[in-house]
Formats: sequence, C-alpha cells, structure tokens
Amino acid sequence: MSSKENNDINKTEQGSNFIHNIIDEDIANGKNGGAVYTRFPPEPNGYLHIGHAKSICLNFTTAQKYGGKCNLRYDDTNPVKEDTEYIDSIEEDVRWLGFEWDERLWASDYFQQMYDAAVELIKKGKAYVCDLSAEEIKAYRGTLKEPGKESPYRNRSVEENLKLFEEMRDGKYADGEKVLRAKIDMASPNINMRDPVIYRIAHATHHNTGDKWCIYPMYDFAHPLEDAIEGITHSICTLEFEDHRPLYDWSIKEVGWWPNPPQQIEFARLDITNTVMSKRLLKGFVDDGIVEGWDDPRMPTIAGLRRRGYTPEAIRDFCERIGVAKANSVVDIALLEHCIREDLKDKVPSRNVVFDPIKIVITNYPEDQTEEMEMENNRNVPEMGSRKVPFSRELYVDGNDFMEVPVKKYFRLFPGNEVRFKGAYFITCNEVIKNDDGSIKELHCTYDPETRSGSGFEGRKVKGTIHWVDAATAVPVKVRKYDYLMKAKEEGGPEELNKESMTEETAYAEPLINEAAPGDRFQFFRHGYYIADSKLTTDNEKVFNQIVDLKSSFKIKK
Ligand code: ATP
Ligand code: MG
Repeated sequence: MSSKENNDINKTEQGSNFIHNIIDEDIANGKNGGAVYTRFPPEPNGYLHIGHAKSICLNFTTAQKYGGKCNLRYDDTNPVKEDTEYIDSIEEDVRWLGFEWDERLWASDYFQQMYDAAVELIKKGKAYVCDLSAEEIKAYRGTLKEPGKESPYRNRSVEENLKLFEEMRDGKYADGEKVLRAKIDMASPNINMRDPVIYRIAHATHHNTGDKWCIYPMYDFAHPLEDAIEGITHSICTLEFEDHRPLYDWSIKEVGWWPNPPQQIEFARLDITNTVMSKRLLKGFVDDGIVEGWDDPRMPTIAGLRRRGYTPEAIRDFCERIGVAKANSVVDIALLEHCIREDLKDKVPSRNVVFDPIKIVITNYPEDQTEEMEMENNRNVPEMGSRKVPFSRELYVDGNDFMEVPVKKYFRLFPGNEVRFKGAYFITCNEVIKNDDGSIKELHCTYDPETRSGSGFEGRKVKGTIHWVDAATAVPVKVRKYDYLMKAKEEGGPEELNKESMTEETAYAEPLINEAAPGDRFQFFRHGYYIADSKLTTDNEKVFNQIVDLKSSFKIKK
C-alpha cells in the first residue's frame, strides 16, 4: 500500500470519541468530584469477541485517561451453571488485550441488596406483585400506537405486596406464577416503562449463591443497581439500551439510596462485514462443528484472533481507529486486516516459502555445490539483521511464478525469460520438461554466475524477481489459509455461511523454519503473514495459520 493511501486511512478512520467529550464536561462541572469509574460487564456465557474488545478498550482506556478505575464485573444474575471455561477465557482475553481491572466483581454478590431495593420500592408503593401470566403481561402491554392496560393486581396494598414478595422469595410459588413489577405508567410512550417486570421466580441453582434464592432480578433492574452499588460514574453500554435508560434512571432514583447516580451512555455496537458478532451465533458455530472451537482462527473471538496471529496492538489500534459513535454502522473487515499488516510489517522476519512448487534444475550449476545466501530478515528494519539461506542446483519456486505461455505483462519465469532469484542469481528458463501425462516435471534453467546478489553486478536489468527454496533442504510445512466465515452480503440479502472458509496445503520452507516455535510470526515472502499455530505445531510438524495476505483491498471511504 502506498503511503498516501495510508495517510488517507489515518485521516478518515482515526476515531473520535463523544463519550470523552461528555466526561470532560462532567469534570468541568465538578460532577462526582471529578471521579471517573467505569466497568466492563460481560455475561459469562461464551467467549468474548471483537465487539467486546471495543467495549473493553473503551472502558479501560477511559478510566486510564482520567486517572479513574475500571472493574471487571460478571453479569451473572441469570441462574445458569457457571462455566469456568468462559470465566477463564474472559480474564485471559482482557489481560491479553493489555488491561488489568481494579476489582473483579460478581453481580450475584449483590442479590441481598437488590432484594432489599425491591422491598424498598414496594414500601414506597412503586412495585407490586402481579399474578398475570407472561402471555397476559405481554397482551396487556399495548403497542407503540396503543397504551397498555393496567393489571388487575396493580392496586394491591403495600402490606399484601410485601407478604407476597416474601412468599415468592421463600419458594411458595412455582416459576411464572407471580412476578414483581415496577409501578410506573401503562400509558408511557416508552414500552419499557409500562410496569416492567423486575423480579421473576426461577427455581434454579445459581453457581455463586446455590439454592439461596429462587427469585432473580431482571437485567433492567439489576444492572443500574450494580452500577450504583459500585459507584460507577459512567455506565457505558451499547445503543440498544437507549430506550431502557429511563428505567435505568428510574430504578436508581426510586430506590433512592444513591445521591450520585451513575450516568448511562450508549454507543454504537461494533459490527464487521463477513462475520457475526453475537455469542449466541458463535456458540452455534462451535456446537454445530462449523468451526473447530471458540478459538478457531476464523472466529471473530479474541481467542480466535489471537490464534490467527492478531496482536493486541493491532486490535487496540483498530478499536481506536473505528472511534466511538452514536450511530450504528458496519465496519469493513479490511480495516482490521489493515491494522494487523501495519503492526506486523516492521516486527516480523521474512522467510522463503514456496507454494504449489515447481522444480527448477540449474543445468550449469555444479552438481554438489551449495552456497549460503545472505538474506535480510526485514527490509524495513536493518537492525533485524540477516540470515543464511542455502542455494544449490535444484530449487523450488511457486507454481504461480511460471507460465508456459505467458500472458501480457507477465514478467516471471517463462521459456526464454530471465528473472532475478531474490538474494541469489539471474536465472533464465530454457526448457520445460514434462511427465508422460503432460504435466510439468521440472524446468531446466541456467544461471549467470556474474549476477550474484551482493556482488555489485550492474549489468542488464530484469523485470521480475521471484523467491525460491533449495530442494534438498526444503522443509514441508502445513499451511492453513482462511477465507471469511460469512459470505459478503448480497444487496439487501442475509449474510450466508461460507462453507469453504479453510483450505489446507503443504508448502516448502527454507530450513530455518525448523526453529519456529508455536506462536512465532513471519512474513512468508511475497505471500503474506503467517503464525505457527499454537495448538497444532509440534517438534515434528509445523502448522501455520495465514494471518493476512500482503495486499490491501481496503477501500477508502469518500
Ligand atoms: P452478545 O450479543 O454477543 O452475547 P452481549 O452484549 O450480550 O453480546 P455481554 O457479555 O452482555 O454480551 O456484553 C458485555 C459488554 O460488551 C456489554 O457492555 C456490551 O454492551 C458490550 N458489547 C457486546 N457486544 C458488543 C459489540 N458488538 N460492540 C461493542 N460492545 C459490545
Ligand atoms: Mg448478553
């Protein structure tokens, strides 16, 4: 990519952050004594994805920027079985992204306070026990055009409500038999305010509180209280909660225990082309065997991106560039790819690796001679030094670097053409040797000893430069190349699963590849960036994941 293009990307994509403008104003007004306390509140029901990374970066860097604090809080008010796998992965991912929480907290630790808060509402005449079924409640709720209908149980006395709610807690009723509802306004234009359910009965064992509770608070009631209890000042969440904000504010205000209520601020959730951004759908891919696990390199999970070869720096850069906006939009996955290329280009060494090999025999090169060619590890970074790459009479080049009948503007190998073998010699292709079935067996070539790389040869110019590996010492490696999980959306149509999102092939690498350890990244010269897979690479077999190709298909937004 040209540097001009780069600059354009920086200009168009460097994100703005309206939340920081709000906080600046709050600080100027002396709100909360200038404190900034945020939280990242995952529900531990799956692995985190790159959408969560946006929220993590936003919450943690906001706290950092203002010298505040950021909690990791598990939103575990649903009584599902704890999955330590999810908890462990969440903590690993947050730390890997480069953040450390101030406190690690569990929403379920506040169940008693939440219960007391509900009792407080009942005492204030702001909540009532309702016997309508879920279907009836829904039918009574009304529509956007029509107001709702009041529940026949709405005017129960405080005493009766207190008694019934206590009985709910004591397990006297079955799931769904009764609920506790906030008493707000059945005619509110905001349907969330039409006497929402705030507590439900669920006879289920909770991973943290066991069988202590058989009633559980609803998210819209629990979340504001969690924030208020922890002294969160700015509760950052995604846009779909905008219509829930009145209930968030109502809950804290009507319970009335917190003089400095937190402020909910909504931002646009991250959506990226060619993938999905939902734990539920991603879990489906895992359960249905569409991918090899949550950390499959095709997954948009943090674990998947990590295994794919993404760096925390690239992901943080991406989150910075997309900015924080108030309007939903879909980010081109090419921007994410641009960020990893940018991060790796000056970090990783180059290796010669040949795909779909064609054998080269240099007929005028001595039979038992081998030379060590000095090759730079990274042409952008001289300090990364060089390595020695063996060169001899028989070599492999990429299948793509030869055409028996060249198309126009093809400057690589074809009969009669001379090219530069990168870091070695000028080579001319003289003859194509075929197998009986007509396929190519090998190419007979000659080299010009005068043209050795580094010799200062200033003779004729060639238009093509290709890479190679020495056939005798080449190391076969397994390479996994990836396509997107989801096909590009047809105009107006749904995203469709790409059934051919992975291909596996054997490639041939220079011998130094034997030293690659799991997690080591390289530029396979002229091919792209690759990482030695952390799970599949062994001492005997190297397995590489394609991180990203070299070229950018990123289109600048006009
Ligand atoms: P999912 O639908 O994938 O399960 P979620 O919102 O239910 O996502 P939570 O564990 O509840 O997942 O989310 C934790 C935090 O991450 C929330 O504050 C949520 O707003 C934020 N978050 C989740 N998905 C995104 C996204 N795509 N972009 C930005 N923030 C997100
Ligand atoms: Mg959720």
